[in-house]
Amino acid sequence: MKISPFVLKPTFRYGSQTPWGGSELARLFHKEAPDPRTGESLEMSVIPSLESTDENGTSLSELISQYGADLTGTAVRGEFPLLLKLIDARERLSVQVHPDDSYAAANENKLGKTEAWVILACKPDASIVYGLKEGTDPGVLKAACESGTGVEDLLNYAPVHVGDVFYIPAGMVHAIGEGIVLYEIQQSSDVTYRFYDWNRTDAAGNKRALHIRQALDVTRYDLDTGKAVPRELSDPNCKRELLLDTPHFKLQRLLDCLNLPFTSHEESFSVLTALSGGFIECDQDKIHLAEGTTLFIPANCRDFRLTAKHCLLAGPAC
Ligand SMILES: [Zn+2]
Repeated sequence: MKISPFVLKPTFRYGSQTPWGGSELARLFHKEAPDPRTGESLEMSVIPSLESTDENGTSLSELISQYGADLTGTAVRGEFPLLLKLIDARERLSVQVHPDDSYAAANENKLGKTEAWVILACKPDASIVYGLKEGTDPGVLKAACESGTGVEDLLNYAPVHVGDVFYIPAGMVHAIGEGIVLYEIQQSSDVTYRFYDWNRTDAAGNKRALHIRQALDVTRYDLDTGKAVPRELSDPNCKRELLLDTPHFKLQRLLDCLNLPFTSHEESFSVLTALSGGFIECDQDKIHLAEGTTLFIPANCRDFRLTAKHCLLAGPAC
């Protein structure tokens, strides 16, 4: 059965869940952020209690059980594979690392997490933690984490600019720096091992829990710390760039789309985030896409056309 594309309504992580969050998601994307410290808008999520819904309030997992492969695609089996967030880091986040699928299955009974970031806005001198300094010795890292001193000297810091793309495979040490708004596509998992939290304390003087043993277990020392280089794809209806082609997801940037046709993909769903305003036309319907709106594109989708200046398109095989 053909299904029309539909706008997703996000859920939020905010307040004490994201003490590092801010108000940029409301300012830039008119998100109904519940708190001046809103760190995350979960644009496409089946994480329990943080599920995104369609505009009628039906959760994505209910829609998946209703429509099955017509929605998710013939190649998507088992758990729904992806999670998409917009993130506002008013302050820097803790330094963390995620496990791969085999470690996460054995230890957490969950998927691992590989993720990627696209920088949407940032202050002029913003940077991220992106891997470890070359030649970092596991023993030195362990001693630094356990004592809480010297960790900062072992981290690789990368300056960021709007439009930069960073691939963060499982095992890569990373942290979003302060003053950054980004798009994050990732495996649908919430397994995070926190290495180091800059020795911060909350108002009551407590530090956040660390997971040093697990973090050291899964950290990889052999990863490339160069940012991703977009590759232009030919398309008569837009400027199309392949940003990432990974085992878990593909990511494209679409610029200046004018009546860009989409047809059903069968194998997998995809998800489109409009960073500028725009619209789609599907049969007789015209659906307006406000800035920051995310559109779910079912695998067995009705044909439609997209007009928008700037979008990101992601999916298992988009
Ligand atoms: Zn992460």
